[in-house]
Amino acid sequence: TIEFVRASQLQGDEEPSGPPPPTQAQQKESIQAVRRSLPVFPFREELLAAIANHQVLIIEGETGSGKTTQIPQYLFEEGYTRKGMKIACTQPRRVAAMSVAARVAREMGVKLGNEVGYSIRFEDCTSERTVLRYMTDGMLLREFLSEPDLASYSVVMVDEAHERTLHTDILFGLIKDVARFRPELKVLVASATLDTARFSTFFDDAPVFRIPGRRFPVDIFYTKAPEADYLEACVVSVLQIHVTQPPGDILVFLTGQEEIEAACEMLQDRCRRLGSKIRELLVLPIYANLPSDIQARIFQPTPPGARKVVVATNIAETSLTIEGIIYVLDPGFCKQKSYNPRTGMESLTVTPCSKASANQRAGRAGRVAAGKCFRLYTAWAYQHELEETTVPEIQRTSLGNVVLLLKSLGIHDLMHFDFLDPPPYETLLLALEQLYALGALNHLGELTTSGRKMAELPVDPMLSKMILASEKYSCSEEILTVAAMLSVNNSIFYRPKDKVVHADNARVNFFLPGGDHLVLLNVYTQWAESGYSSQWCYENFVQFRSMRRARDVREQLEGLLERVEVGLSSCQGDYIRAITAGYFYHTARLTRSGYRTVKQQQTVFIHPNSSLFDEQPRWLLYHELVLTTKEFMRQVLEIESSWLLEVAPHYYKAKELEDPHSKKMPKKIGKTREELG
Ligand code: ADP
Ligand code: MG
Repeated sequence: TIEFVRASQLQGDEEPSGPPPPTQAQQKESIQAVRRSLPVFPFREELLAAIANHQVLIIEGETGSGKTTQIPQYLFEEGYTRKGMKIACTQPRRVAAMSVAARVAREMGVKLGNEVGYSIRFEDCTSERTVLRYMTDGMLLREFLSEPDLASYSVVMVDEAHERTLHTDILFGLIKDVARFRPELKVLVASATLDTARFSTFFDDAPVFRIPGRRFPVDIFYTKAPEADYLEACVVSVLQIHVTQPPGDILVFLTGQEEIEAACEMLQDRCRRLGSKIRELLVLPIYANLPSDIQARIFQPTPPGARKVVVATNIAETSLTIEGIIYVLDPGFCKQKSYNPRTGMESLTVTPCSKASANQRAGRAGRVAAGKCFRLYTAWAYQHELEETTVPEIQRTSLGNVVLLLKSLGIHDLMHFDFLDPPPYETLLLALEQLYALGALNHLGELTTSGRKMAELPVDPMLSKMILASEKYSCSEEILTVAAMLSVNNSIFYRPKDKVVHADNARVNFFLPGGDHLVLLNVYTQWAESGYSSQWCYENFVQFRSMRRARDVREQLEGLLERVEVGLSSCQGDYIRAITAGYFYHTARLTRSGYRTVKQQQTVFIHPNSSLFDEQPRWLLYHELVLTTKEFMRQVLEIESSWLLEVAPHYYKAKELEDPHSKKMPKKIGKTREELG
């Protein structure tokens, strides 16, 4: 068991108490009654009046008050979509866009994709009739490419603004500009109760409309001592809550798909072993790549007598509201991107979340009744180790993509772009340099023809460059597959706990000399030959839904080839060179002391899951770096150094690519797969 101490006891505060949970009868109310019961509802008229009177309005309201699902409907009812005009509502996360669109379609009694739809990368569920468009912030950003003044929109609602994603931040600058020459456009910036003053200042002191929250007290508990293994601690705590606490569902915050799946498996496993000794516990995951039918299950009411535990990523912090949550379990971590502009290395790491995040998470327990939040860290850690707020993404990510997009929109002077918080100067500079090296910009920093094409593809500049290069090497068929498989990254292989040996053998069976890109291509090709069969996936420990998604992505990219003037072609050899033409920036060489990146001389390691882990080729390129215990290269491919000169003569000098010690290399460097676990 894990020992928790109540925060109020630590501080000598009184124990809060709240009204009882809603009765059965209340839960059975119709959808319209639920709509009327939301905190935003009493403010409907006042809100619509404020929108009519101001071009830009900042809307602040507690999570669950109805901002996302209700306000676009109010605008629709008020006639903002007359004459074919549309309303956009942006979400930082794909899952949220899909889920709220589905909810709103249900509330309006229409089929999803008709009047109400969503649009996320590689998946468009809208039609000519769609007037309420929920979309990721990245998709609205791309709308600017085809419609720079957003002329077909009457209202743009930038939702979850407090998340401060890169795309949301860029949208702020662009929308502020559009609003100046389109006085009839309404701009709404909606946010949880954070940062609203900043948004107001940015939009020339736009008024802030506050929706008073309804929130029950949440009792906060901390662990007495730090927990070494938070995943295990989570599982133990969930069961502890389940066994000792009165009814009410549990929400657990973990950092990503792998962790969530592991936790769910452990929970199910232990429940199975406890059998009828405990009441039924429904274990439901929620994360970005989860298929929508499974996602929808988290919203279904818990059957009487049972308890539901939702194991979620940050998505449940503010973007989604799940009814009936009374207990929150917060290990205090999230997955965060960070970027080092000096080395150009981007990494995704599990880091402690901010105090603001921790408080949002705790708040999720107090929506329907008084709740409890169990923090798997000490009160001391909360006070001394957590940052106040999360650093905006724009300050900790690479900007290649966004710079390319802004350049395509004709924005040349990026240093003077209207940023809410500017990115580090070095990051901007490096993005320009990289785009120049990729041939997207000329030496004056202007967009080239190839850059224009790269911007057309909704993928990272290196990936677009790879796709464009496939024309030269006549291998677009293979490259499309590689691109699609890379974009569903890390969720191809299935490794159930009770069959690890079989699963690992199945994976190794796909290995081909050369590296992981070839393995991905091999998996896809065999799957296609099986007739895209789910049975084949099952037999080969491959995740069917990841493959299905890869197929969708591939189809979408194929549909865009014509726009970027790449013909369909297939060959058997030179796609490795096309990959190199896109990824020459991400290269490493083997030195006596292990792998070093070619330009920056950073120490890096091949990921233990890679097919090249035991091979240790001298030169390789990698798709991405992930920092866990070390800086790991994920998805690596063996290359020859001479190719780098061939595909990027402006970037590499022959001298850099010489091997200073070309004699014998040690056969194997570093630890074995087993040693690394
Ligand atoms: P906000 O954007 O202010 O956080 P939302 O508009 O997302 O609030 O949610 C308002 C309410 O709508 C939630 O409290 C919840 O009761 C309900 N709701 C939202 N999405 C769903 C869903 N998919 N299924 C059931 N209820 C939902
Ligand atoms: Mg919302």
